[in-house]
Amino acid sequence: MAKIAVLYDAGQAVLSTFDPDEVLQRILGIARDYFHLQNVAILLLDKDAQQLCVRSQIGWDKGQDQIRLGLGEGLTGTAALKKLPVYAPDVAQDPRYICTAQSTRSELAIPLMVRDEVVGVLDCQSDQVAPFDNDTIDLLTLFSTQASMALQNARLYSLERQRARQLEAINAIAQQSTAVLDLEELLSRVCCLIQKAFQVSHTSLFLRDEGELVLRAHHGTLTPRAPENMRFPVGQEPWSSILATNGTFIEKDLAGTPEHLKFFVESASRLSIPLVSFGQTLGMLTLDSSKPNAFRDSELSSLESVADICATSIQNAHYVERVKQLAYLDGLTGIFNRRFFELRIMEEIERARRYGTGMAVIMADIDQFKPLNDEFGHLLGDEVLRQVSSLFHQQLRKIDVVCRYGGEEFAVLLSQTSAQHAVGVAEKLRRIVEGWQFPGVPRTVTISAGVAALPDHGTSRDELVRAADTGLYAAKQAGRNRVCSAPLARGASAGG
Ligand code: GH3
Ligand code: MG
Ligand code: MG
Repeated sequence: MAKIAVLYDAGQAVLSTFDPDEVLQRILGIARDYFHLQNVAILLLDKDAQQLCVRSQIGWDKGQDQIRLGLGEGLTGTAALKKLPVYAPDVAQDPRYICTAQSTRSELAIPLMVRDEVVGVLDCQSDQVAPFDNDTIDLLTLFSTQASMALQNARLYSLERQRARQLEAINAIAQQSTAVLDLEELLSRVCCLIQKAFQVSHTSLFLRDEGELVLRAHHGTLTPRAPENMRFPVGQEPWSSILATNGTFIEKDLAGTPEHLKFFVESASRLSIPLVSFGQTLGMLTLDSSKPNAFRDSELSSLESVADICATSIQNAHYVERVKQLAYLDGLTGIFNRRFFELRIMEEIERARRYGTGMAVIMADIDQFKPLNDEFGHLLGDEVLRQVSSLFHQQLRKIDVVCRYGGEEFAVLLSQTSAQHAVGVAEKLRRIVEGWQFPGVPRTVTISAGVAALPDHGTSRDELVRAADTGLYAAKQAGRNRVCSAPLARGASAGG
C-alpha cells in the first residue's frame, strides 16, 4: 500500500508540469527522495544519431555528462536496445558496465518507453552491491512508465508551442510582406521574425546580384565574419550546387569548413533555402546555428513555406521599385521626367541650404524645333530628342540630374555648383549639341539655355525655375544658340 502511495505521488509530481526541464528535475528528485538513490541520470535518445545522450543527472563524476552511448553500449545502451530493464547487482562482475562515477558498485538501467518506442533510459547507480530487491525494481519500472509519459507530454506540448509560434510567424511574415513594399525594410523585418520564431542563432537573407550572392539583411546573435556587404560568387561551392538544384541544403557540421565560406564566426551548422519565385532564383535564406546538427527535419516544411513567402514578397517589392522608377522616367528618352525634377529640386535645395554648398538649375530648349519637325518629320524629331538627352547624360556627372521638362525642353540639376560653374556646364552642353551630326538631319541643331543658381538667383524652387526660364527667354531673344545667366535676385551679390 505504501508503495502504491509512492507511485501515485511520483506520478502526480511528474505529470503536473509541461516544462521538459522541470519534468526531468522532478524525475531525478523522486528517484533521490523516494528511492534514496544518490546517483541517477536520464539519458534521452537522439533519433538521428541513434545515441543516448545524458540530459540530466545527479551524482556523476565531473566531465562524464558529455557521454554519448550507442544502442547496445553499456548497461543503459543494452536496456534501450532490448527495451527491458537491465540490472547489474555488482558492476565488477558485469563486462557491459561503463564507469561514470568511481563510487558506483551496482547499476540498474530502465528504458523509458512511449508505446513501443524507446525515448531514453532512467539510469540508477548505487554505491552498494545488490541494493535493489525485485519489488523496488518493479516499482522503479512502473515509475519509469509514468516518467516517460510525462516526458512525452512535455515534448509534445513544447512541439505544439513551437508549431504555434512558427505558424504565427508565417502568418506575420505573410501579412507584413504584403504591407511592406520597401525592399530593405521587408528583408530586415522578415529576418527578425524568422530568427525569433525558429529560435536559430542567426538568420540571413542573400539576394542575387549578377554573379554574386549579396547579404542584404541579417538578424541574430552571431558575429559576422566581415562587417558589411558580404558577397559570395554564385559559382562557388556550396552555393553553386544549392542554386543549381534549388533545393534545401543542410550543413550539419561546419567544423572543417574554411573560414571564408562561413558567414559568421561561431557558425557550427547551417541551413540554406533558395528563394525561388516563378522559376527564378532571387537569392537564399540562410539559418546559422552555433551548435552542430541544429536543424530538424520536422522544421523544414515550415521554413520552406517561409522561404516561398519571402521569395514572392521580394519579387513584389522588386516590381514596386520598378514601377516607381517607371513613374519617374520619360517614356521617349529614358531620362527622368518633370515629376522627378520637382521632387529632386526640393531635396537639392534642402541639401544646399543645410551644407551651404550651393546648387544650380539649367533650363535648355532646342532651337527652332518646330520647323525641324515640319521639315524632317516627327519621328526624326523624336530621334533628335533622344540623342540630345543622351548627349546631356554623357556630359554630366553621376550626381547631376537630367530631366525632360516637357516637349523639347530639358532641366538639369547641378548639386554643389556655383552660378559661374553652371554657366560653364551649360556652355559645354550647348557646344556639344552644336557640333553633333544628327543622322538624317542635314543641318546644325542648337540649343539655348538659361542658368540660375542658389543663392544668387533665388532660394526657393519657384524662384530658381522662374529665374532659369528668364535666362532661357533672354538667350532666345538674343538670337538663340547661347547661354544666359538669370538676372540677380534682389539682395544677392554677384560672384561664384
Ligand atoms: P524656339 O527656338 O523658340 O524654341 O522654337 P521652337 O520651334 O523650338 O519652339 P516651339 O515651342 O514653337 O515648338 C516646339 C515644338 O516641339 C512643337 C512640338 O511639335 C515639338 N515637340 C514637342 N514634343 C515633341 C516630341 O515629343 N516629339 C517631337 N518630334 N516633337 C515634339
Ligand atoms: Mg524650342
Ligand atoms: Mg520649347
